Amino acid sequence: MPIWDTIIIGGAAAGLSAAIYTCRKNMKTLVISIDIGGQNLLTEQEENYPGYIELSGPKLMQIFQKQAINFGAEIIFGKATKLEKLDKNFKITMGNGDEYITKTVILSFGKISRPLNVEGENKFMGRGVHTCATCDAPFTKGKNVAVIGGGNSAFEAAELLTKFANKVYLIHRRDEFKADPITVDKIKNKNKVEIIINTIIKKINGEKNVDSLLIENIIDNSTKELKIDSVFIEIGYILDTDWVSNLVKLENRQIITNKKAETITPGIFAAGDVTNSPYKQTITAAAEGAIAGLSSYNYLRSKEGKSTISLDWK
Ligand SMILES: Cc1cc2nc3c(=O)[nH]c(=O)nc-3n(C[C@H](O)[C@H](O)[C@H](O)COP(=O)(O)OP(=O)(O)OC[C@H]3O[C@@H](n4cnc5c(N)ncnc54)[C@H](O)[C@@H]3O)c2cc1C
Repeated sequence: MPIWDTIIIGGAAAGLSAAIYTCRKNMKTLVISIDIGGQNLLTEQEENYPGYIELSGPKLMQIFQKQAINFGAEIIFGKATKLEKLDKNFKITMGNGDEYITKTVILSFGKISRPLNVEGENKFMGRGVHTCATCDAPFTKGKNVAVIGGGNSAFEAAELLTKFANKVYLIHRRDEFKADPITVDKIKNKNKVEIIINTIIKKINGEKNVDSLLIENIIDNSTKELKIDSVFIEIGYILDTDWVSNLVKLENRQIITNKKAETITPGIFAAGDVTNSPYKQTITAAAEGAIAGLSSYNYLRSKEGKSTISLDWK
């Protein structure tokens, strides 16, 4: 198994910027991410990122990605679910059980869609389980899909999916929706859509790909298997930091860092929206990513007894 110089968890503004910096220091860099772009995939117009008068969030993230890859970053898709400290290195375990070993870790996994916390969710994340309809709807052509949620984002996702999918189930645990009535009515009248209320997801089934959902009606507790190919989880955003709480200090679920992006564990750095930084913007996430990248480089150098760099032109 290769030992990476750094593994960056989260491939968006903070993580890709960190990768640009670590790669330019010749560090063997792996980015692990559920998607490329994170919250910026939801931003139609980014008007305050210096250097661009106006650019869409996804386009900006494509440029970040290209730059990181050009400098040598490798990217794999999936969800990291466990971080452990070994004797000299760190071990990262993925939702599908794959493991990676690294000398340093950069945590830049921002905010994610609130998880359902059901079996199968992590295993198929990014491969049948999705959290961004804008990004992944085009891959559902001719398929049967489910959207979970009852707010505007769930209904907007369902509407978008009707343009591609064969059938769209909208599954909500209550019998009332938070979404605006006008949005709900628009969806209710679509032939392709079936709304299932008072229902929760118990399990996402499949071997290599998602093939069904086990759903439960919360009124009579009856269960049923619903054949689908993809599921879109649209139940809000959270900071999902519990899985790293063994190695970093948290405050309101945010990872506490100092000015060098260091956490309480030497060798683990954090950047962007996942940290306790007071400003959650693309430019600040990118800057913190750069700091984390340089700090991880300095950490390795000092471990090897070499002098550290300051990147101050003096
Ligand atoms: C609708 C909207 C509009 C916005 N508009 C603007 C704007 O105009 N200007 C501006 O400056 N900012 C804007 N922001 C804020 C900006 O998008 C964020 O500050 C920025 O995206 C933070 O970047 P990040 O890299 O820290 O995290 P995120 O963008 O949250 O990315 C985190 C990445 O980590 C991945 N990930 C999460 N958990 C895991 C895991 N366990 N394993 C592997 N990968 C994981 C995710 O898939 C994602 O790729 C907006 C945000 C939203 C939601």
